[in-house]
Amino acid sequence: GAAIELRNVTKVYKTQNKGTEVHALRGVDLTVDRGEIHGIVGQSGAGKSTLIRCLTGLEEPTDGEIEVNGKSMIGQGQKDLRRSRTGIGMVFQHANLLDSRTVAANVAYPLKLAKLPKAEIKRRVEDLLETVGLSDRATSYPSELSGGQKQRVGIARALADYPPVLLCDEPTSALDGETTRQILDLLCELRSKLKVTIVIITHEMSVVREICDSVSLLDAGRIIQSGPLEQVAADV
Ligand code: ADP
Ligand code: ADP
Repeated sequence: GAAIELRNVTKVYKTQNKGTEVHALRGVDLTVDRGEIHGIVGQSGAGKSTLIRCLTGLEEPTDGEIEVNGKSMIGQGQKDLRRSRTGIGMVFQHANLLDSRTVAANVAYPLKLAKLPKAEIKRRVEDLLETVGLSDRATSYPSELSGGQKQRVGIARALADYPPVLLCDEPTSALDGETTRQILDLLCELRSKLKVTIVIITHEMSVVREICDSVSLLDAGRIIQSGPLEQVAADV
């Protein structure tokens, strides 16, 4: 089955400017199969952030259906409830680490919030740091790390409760070419090792060409093309 399925998803914002409506998403249909690396490409204003907020349960679409791993994200009531059942780990452009906490404590943070037993947290943190190649930096602080290392910590934290889907928002846009390649290699490894489905949202077609199996092009709130990389990239 699909890891993510959107059917006819529409999001309309009513602005303060009375009567004005912004159609951020217009009838979006999107299917991401399990184990795929799927790229969503769009320029600024295309609706990428809105799509992310709907997928992660931060917002409800105005209309349409969203399923993540077969569970509907619609009609779950309040934000917190929706967010808690998404099964989506988020990776951001800037890793958004807590500067006053060690690498290990950053990765442990969501697990502490989830009130997992201490021994279990320790075991998972060690496992995750090994997976992202940072076992030797557990007690370092974010300020002591390179940009690529910070992003590895961000990825480990996103995977802390082993979500079936990893959603990466411009994961390499702040990194240089060599570091970008290393992070993309890591994402490929994670897909193989953890069988996680990966969605990469980006304005960089080069990133998509490098690692995506399939791509959707988002333009002015619509998916204007979607399919295997070879098919879509040939036209862009
Ligand atoms: P992207 O992330 O691709 O830049 P966004 O999803 O942020 O696109 O924005 C899509 C459209 O929706 C834009 O026209 C933007 O101005 C509008 N928009 C986004 N968020 C809001 C909001 N909270 N209220 C009103 N309009 C919004
Ligand atoms: P804080 O008080 O800032 O949250 P802690 O030192 O209490 O930081 O660490 C938070 C979590 O990180 C703990 O639950 C611990 O299991 C985990 N942790 C800390 N250091 C390590 C380490 N070197 N290896 C693995 N896990 C660690």
